[in-house]
Order: sequence, then structure tokens, then C-alpha cells
Amino acid sequence: MEEVLRRALDEHVSLTRFLYADHGGIIRGKAAATARLAERIESGIGHTRAMMAMSMMDELSAVDGMGPVGEVRIKPDISTFTPLPYAPGAAAMLADQVLPDGAPWDGCARTLLKQAISDLADEGYELRASFEPEFTLGHREGHESAALRPIDESLCYSSTGFHLAHDYTIDLVAALNEQGLEVEHYYPELGHGQQEVPIRYAAALRAADNHVLLRETVRGVAIRHGLWASFAPKPFPDQAGNGAHLHASLWRDGANAFVDPNGRFGMSTVGYRFLAGVLAHLPALVALTCGSVNSYRRLVPRTWSGAFTCWGPDNREAAVRVCSPIGAHGSVNLEFKPSDSSGNPYLALGGFIYAGLDGLRRCLSPPEPLSVDPAVLSPAERSELSVSPLPSSLSEALNALEADSVLMSALGSPRSTAYLAVKRSEVTHFAKHDAAYECYHHWMKF
Ligand code: GLU
Ligand code: MG
Repeated sequence: MEEVLRRALDEHVSLTRFLYADHGGIIRGKAAATARLAERIESGIGHTRAMMAMSMMDELSAVDGMGPVGEVRIKPDISTFTPLPYAPGAAAMLADQVLPDGAPWDGCARTLLKQAISDLADEGYELRASFEPEFTLGHREGHESAALRPIDESLCYSSTGFHLAHDYTIDLVAALNEQGLEVEHYYPELGHGQQEVPIRYAAALRAADNHVLLRETVRGVAIRHGLWASFAPKPFPDQAGNGAHLHASLWRDGANAFVDPNGRFGMSTVGYRFLAGVLAHLPALVALTCGSVNSYRRLVPRTWSGAFTCWGPDNREAAVRVCSPIGAHGSVNLEFKPSDSSGNPYLALGGFIYAGLDGLRRCLSPPEPLSVDPAVLSPAERSELSVSPLPSSLSEALNALEADSVLMSALGSPRSTAYLAVKRSEVTHFAKHDAAYECYHHWMKF
């Protein structure tokens, strides 16, 4: 606490944002003035429970316990305090929503991830993860039904792409590193204006917090450059989508428990059990990892988004890729591709852990790996290999989630009810409109 207060004063912070992610996938919060920061860290900032029933269109769903009556507090995790390099005078902390007496609230998404981490720890493991974020950099033109014009039409990984986004990228990398997010790579991606900035993996809670900070920073730095950055899964229907592939491995006693030089593709039995759990819950899990209506415009074959229930070593069309071992210790991790940045990263990672945990607990084995593009298989071949397409809409994914008793009971009440209600309200909203309207609202909000 002393360290936070000292940094707030030393770095001339006048407002500290207490941030959380809601069921609509939007990052929201309230800010505390520095004079009251110590008090607000203790008490949290008062907030209505109804905000966890609000959609990405700011529409409230009717959810028991999330109506106009009832209070929670936005209670920051002080270990996450960071001045915001792109917003001089401001800092941020990631926050839980707690009951007024400070007890955990079952409607809080970050609390769900903490619970998943603790349940996994009971089995003896820690998950380390990183989201591999892609986004579109462009100019936002006009206000009402504005257009997003990508900053370039450069080719995938092309050096021209490096030149055209250079000033922005250098500022972005500095801003991320200053907040303790270790940038590992950068490349101009396939889509027009598309960029990718992978961050070093971290313990699960930190990985989700990092993804929130990254989303904030990508947009915050863009605004200071007179640009607009969007994580919408598919900002333009005819361009490459923005994924946020989830890279993850289990650790035990400081060592990667997925590594087994004698295992198939260098992966351990524990790795295969976890993988089998993820595959077993895939259609339901994507309701959390591909959390918006726009997500399903991205989640289609032949876009490297992993649109089929299958896995394979270095297979970029499989939902889960076992990444080939790298480095002196032969580090192994799973890359989960049906994941983007329009959902709530705490629910996405929490759901992923619970799916894998189910595989560990039940000692599941995955089906045979796939070493071809699943799109080239005939329907008969697919059914023989248990390969099926993932849900083709948010509505289908939500039905799969509702039918998945493991994920539903892990989410618990009122979280599961609220999530389904909020997301179904978004389905209903966008069903009345065309693709242009849907893309516009997603690139504006994500
Ligand atoms: N843009 C692709 C997606 O939507 C991913 C491309 C890649 O493998 O980096 O998932
Ligand atoms: Mg990429």
C-alpha cells in the first residue's frame, strides 16, 4: 500500500482507474482521486450489481440479483497498480467486485478465475498463459456510423508494414514494457492494418490482467496518435480476423509439467489429459473464448482460427495446436485458437482451466491428432475422426454452454445466468441488423 501511494505521488498520478471486465466483454471501471486513494483501496468504490447484467450495447438484461437494488464494491488488487504511460496523470489497477463486507461476489469474473486457479492448485498444478493478441490499426472517420480505415494495405509480415506502423509500434512497445508486460515479438499481420504483439506468458491471473492492460494500451496509444485500434474479431467481413490465441501450459514445482521428451510430440500424459478436457468441452468453451456475435464471423475454416474440434502438432487449422518444443528445455505448450479479444478474459481463461481440469480429473485421452487441414476432409472422414465444426454463431455456442454441466456449475450462479442473459440480448440485438452495423459496433467497442 505504501509503495502504491508513494508511486502515485512520485509519478503525479491524480486519478487511479479501478478496472474490471464485464459479461459483455467491455472493460469498465471508476477512478479514485489520489487524496482518497488509500481509503478507496480499503473500501473499494461503490457500484451497482446491475452493471454485470449490461451488454456491449449498454442494454440491461433482467437477471435475479442484478437489478437496481444491491451494491458491490470495485476493490482493486494493489499488486496490479501501474501508472498509464499513454494517459499522463492516470494509473490503473485491476479490480474484483466484492460484497460490501469485502467477501467475494459470485457475479465477479475475476473471482471466477481465482477460483479456477485455486481448484487447479488442489490438483497440484499452476497454469501459465499468454493471449496472442491481434488487432487492426486504422483511422476512425466521422462519428455517427463512422468508418474504420486501416492504416495500410501492407502484406503479411512485410517490411513495408513495419515502416508504416513504426511510430505507433515503438510507443506501444514502450508503454507495454513500462507497465511490466514483457513484449516478446511484433509483426504486421495479414489483414490490412493488422498488427500482432505477443506478450511473455505469466501465471494465469496475471495473464488475464495483462490482456486487459494490453487492450487498454493498444487503444490508448492509438488515440494519442490520432488513430483507432480495434480488437474486433472481424472488423471487416472480407479481411483476416483478429484472434487472441491462448497459449498455456501447466507447471509443477517450477517446471513445465507438459514437457516429456519421451512423450508423443514431446508432451506429457498430464498435457494430453488437459488437452482432452479442453477438446471435450470445446463447443461450450467457445461461448466464453469467442464471446461476441462478431466472433463467429471470424471462426470459420481456412482462416487459421481453429474452427473444428480437433488437435494436431503444429496444425494451424486445428482448434488446439501442440506447439513444437522450443528452447534448451524443450518447452511445450498448447495453443488454443478459437479465442479472441471480444470476450471477458477472466471467464475465458477460467473456463479453459475448468475444461482442462475435467480432463485431468477424469484421466481423459484425446482422439488421434490431425495432420491435415480439417476443411479438406469429407463429412464421412470427419465423423470417423470425431472432427466437427465449432458453433457457427454465438447463439449456438451459448446453447452448448448451457448444456455443459461442468462449465455451468463452475461458473455458478448468478454468473452463469447473467452471462447467458447478457449474451443472448446481444444475439437478439444484432439479429435485427446487417453485417455492417455489427462490424461497426464491434470495432467501436473492442
Ligand atoms: N488471424 C488469425 C486468427 O484470426 C490467426 C493467424 C495466426 O495464426 O497468427 O486467429
Ligand atoms: Mg497472428
